[in-house]
Amino acid sequence: MEQLKDDCLFCKIIRGEIPSYKVFENDDVLAFLDISQVNPGHVLMVPKKHLTNLFDYTAQDAQQYLQYIPMLANAILKSDERFEGMNISTNNGEVAGQVVMHSHIHFIPRFTGDGLKL
Ligand code: ADP
Repeated sequence: MEQLKDDCLFCKIIRGEIPSYKVFENDDVLAFLDISQVNPGHVLMVPKKHLTNLFDYTAQDAQQYLQYIPMLANAILKSDERFEGMNISTNNGEVAGQVVMHSHIHFIPRFTGDGLKL
């Protein structure tokens, strides 16, 4: 927990100071439902270390924190029989649409007729 920042929204969620609907957690990462879901099952996965975005990752960070993406994607996919596919993305830098400055991966389930335009 010493790798977290006091004034960061997602660090506060990791510390449990702000509530979240957790879907997966281990020593390295936390995954929780996005507060404003663009589709049902929209999940964010964050490293339990304050990294601003992918530009902050060392090769070791990438191995440690990003290894869970396929496992989590599969678990989310299987969580609802409607889900047929998924958009997995991350915004890096304000100019790219990053609002919360703690690295996070979006998992957005997709299904036929969801009407989502990304
Ligand atoms: P964008 O808002 O353009 O997707 P980001 O990539 O920085 O920008 O994503 C931040 C995400 O964090 C948003 O999808 C937003 O809905 C989500 N979010 C913000 N506050 C919370 C919160 N307290 N709990 C869960 N998700 C949150």
